[in-house]
Formats: sequence, structure tokens, C-alpha cells
Amino acid sequence: MSDNRRPAGAMTAPAGPFLFRAHPGPGLEVAFTSVDAGNLAFHVSGTPAAGSKSNKGDGSITGGDGGAGDSRERVRASRRGVEAALGVPSGRTEYLTQVHSARVVPAAGRGWGESPAAEEADALISPTGRDPLAIMVADCLPVVFASRRSVESPAAVGRDGRAGASGPGAGGANPLTGPTAVAHAGRRGLLDGILQNTVEMMRREGSGHEPGDIQAWIGPAICGRCYEVPEQMRLDGSAQIPATHSTTTWGTPALDLPAGAQAVLESLGVAVHRSPVCTREDPRLFSHRRDPGRGRFIGLVWRREEGQGTSPGEGSEGSEGSEG
Ligand SMILES: [Zn+2]
Repeated sequence: MSDNRRPAGAMTAPAGPFLFRAHPGPGLEVAFTSVDAGNLAFHVSGTPAAGSKSNKGDGSITGGDGGAGDSRERVRASRRGVEAALGVPSGRTEYLTQVHSARVVPAAGRGWGESPAAEEADALISPTGRDPLAIMVADCLPVVFASRRSVESPAAVGRDGRAGASGPGAGGANPLTGPTAVAHAGRRGLLDGILQNTVEMMRREGSGHEPGDIQAWIGPAICGRCYEVPEQMRLDGSAQIPATHSTTTWGTPALDLPAGAQAVLESLGVAVHRSPVCTREDPRLFSHRRDPGRGRFIGLVWRREEGQGTSPGEGSEGSEGSEG
């Protein structure tokens, strides 16, 4: 049963286009945008879609619209605005064409401004940690990952020739300079293994295997008290991931996807920071169920190159990601 526990790491709220922003490692940025950043998805009309096939009860967040509303130019401007606030070179962030799959792909090395078509997949990995990665959501879970390098990995050996202590929060001797990733975990992706696939590829690309070597931020998503589903869907989901079993505040069957994601990740030795914010209940975020077709926000991660400029403007002293 879900109880919306306090997250392991604080998810506090800086002002501006971000609901949450943290610097959990050297040069490392982890952020979730709010509605103030604007709609960041080209495939969403940006206006409530009349008669859109929303609320199918399957958690699908890809409306079939694509109609007028937000022009592509407005989305481009919003994406550039987020990049400017973080210090990411304009157009350099990598996005995916998200299809509710369990497919993970490596970063292409080209951002949305340079590449005409994004690859179809639902998780994206940067083996170096230096590619700015974004994942779009509006009720489904955005999960952002950072990691320490494994001891066996060539780049793992620190100045003193050994890896640092593991465990959440340890950051000195062996900071989070390994692969990063973002994942889109809706009901289908979660049950089909998108998070397991992401962690597996991160480890293949050099992330450590010790508990806490990989850290995950589960961003704002529809909560277990709001995500109503048919009884059969609740049974199927909780048969696979018991932690997803939930009931709405109005007493009907529900799934708690954030709790399910946390359980899956912790079973893999990932240290989890979980946002307590529900997209359906909090107007600072886009919610497909509350307001279909209005927009998508993003979870984002990247690590700034040494010597690369710090973020301009926008107070950059967001909360540290590790404690609270
Ligand atoms: Zn809720």
C-alpha cells in the first residue's frame, strides 16, 4: 500500500523554470522543470485537446493530437530557455521519441537542434555523463540517473589509485562522474523493465555495482492515490511489482508507480531520491490526466566540462541533492 513516504533525498523547490534542481556532484546538474518552463514537447498541442483519447486508463501520456496550439517555434524557444538557465549549449540537449517501450539507447552526441529526428526509445544513456539528456513526461515517471564509475572501469581510478567509499551521499573520493541516464517509466515501461534495462546498460558502460554507486531521482509523477486503473490492471501490476498496489482517495483501484519504481531500483542497489509531488494535484506541473494535451515537462541531467562556464543568471545554488 502506498504511503507517499518521504524521499531518501530532499526534493526541494528552487524558483524559476525548475521545480527541482540539484548539483549532486562536480559539474553535475539534475533538474525537473515546472510549467513555468513551458511545454517542452513538439508532439503535444499545448492546448487541452478536445476529444483527445486521454484517460484510457493505461497511463498513456502520448496524446494522438499534434494539432495546432504551441507552434514548434514556441517549443524551441522553451527548450532554449531551459538550456540557457542551466548553461547547456543551445540545441545540445538530447531528447527521444518516447513510445512506452523498454528500449534504452546511448546518447547520439547530437542535440535536438542538430538532429532532425529523435530516436524511438524510452531511456537514454550518456556513457561519459557529459551529454545533456532530457526525458518528457506529464504523469508518467521521469527518472534521472547519475553514477560513480566502477572500480574495474579504466576511468574509475582516482588520484590515489582507489575508488572511494560507496553509499548514498559519499561524494568526495569517488564522486558521481560516471555514466548518466534518463528514463520514461509509465505503467507499461515500468512493468516491461525500462528501469532494469537502464541500470544494466549503465553498468555495462562503466557505472559501479556497489550499493549506491548509481543514484536515481524519481521526479514528480501521478501518485498512488490519484492513478486510478481498472481492477484487473491493478492485479496485473501488483502481481509483478507488489509495491504498485494502491487505492485512490475515492476508494477505487489504483497503481502507485513511484513506489513501484523505488522498489525496483532499490532491489538493484540503486540509491533513490523520490519527489513527493503529485503531477495531478500540483498545478506547477503538467498532468495528462488533469489537463490532457497542455504540455510536457522534463527531467534533465548533464555534467559540465571542466572549465566550461557556470550557469548564467538563475541562482545556481539549488539545493544539494543528497540530503534533506
Ligand atoms: Zn495524487
